[in-house]
Amino acid sequence: MNDNDKTHFGYRQVDTEEKQNLVGQVFHSVAHNYDVMNDAMSLGVHRAWKWFAVAQSGVGIGDIVLDLAAGSGDLSLKFADKVGPQGHVIITDINESMLAEGRNRVTNAGVVENVSYSLVNAEQLPFPDNHFDCIAISFGLRNVTHKEQALASMQRCLKPGGRAIILEFSQPTNPAFRTVYDAYSFNVIPWLGEFIAKDRDSYQYLVESIRQHPPQEELKQMMLDAGFDRVRYHNLTGGVVALHIGYKY
Ligand code: SAM
Repeated sequence: MNDNDKTHFGYRQVDTEEKQNLVGQVFHSVAHNYDVMNDAMSLGVHRAWKWFAVAQSGVGIGDIVLDLAAGSGDLSLKFADKVGPQGHVIITDINESMLAEGRNRVTNAGVVENVSYSLVNAEQLPFPDNHFDCIAISFGLRNVTHKEQALASMQRCLKPGGRAIILEFSQPTNPAFRTVYDAYSFNVIPWLGEFIAKDRDSYQYLVESIRQHPPQEELKQMMLDAGFDRVRYHNLTGGVVALHIGYKY
């Protein structure tokens, strides 16, 4: 085995083929407390980040949307509302426990007619070329082992004129703010994980995985390399999160 067969899982180096399994264990473990932890860790601000992502997506009546790594379905619910009865949202995740959370949540909100569910690995999309008006992945890409493959797969499945929406943790732009944010995330988030979800390790992985994810400009370049056009990003909450948008022409 050489270094190319290794990748990061948080700050640990692991065998590349092992990462998907380890990420799976994290999300099986957090699925039940996922929504309450999101609110606790972000003080509710993740709702505004997601609202902004959907507003920027340009999704409208009749569109066909793919929500990757959909988890408990925050974006899916908003997209289902935007596309209306003439459109459709395919809600997907690689993890059965997370997809079950999403299905329960979306169904309990009374949204059934214009949505469907599928277990899908973002790296190998089982959909035709040129199919979707919008493909979104929110707080999912940093968990994907082969990000280039996921981006290429998204680009292939978008219709010409379609948009990819990537919402993900990123790098705060102001060094002083970054210091405060680092102190918060390394000290408070694992503690919240232990206190609320009785699962410190999964939330330690979360804060470490954020630091391993490509920052704003690097992710933008990866999207350009995957064939996206007019790639832009918006820094949210000082760059704690970035929304990248790319088009296919
Ligand atoms: N999109 C939701 C949100 O914004 O709240 C859930 C995000 S959750 C932090 C990350 C999700 O990515 C998990 O549900 C996990 O199962 C999923 N995931 C991890 N690796 C994946 C992959 N290779 N393909 C698809 N989903 C994946």
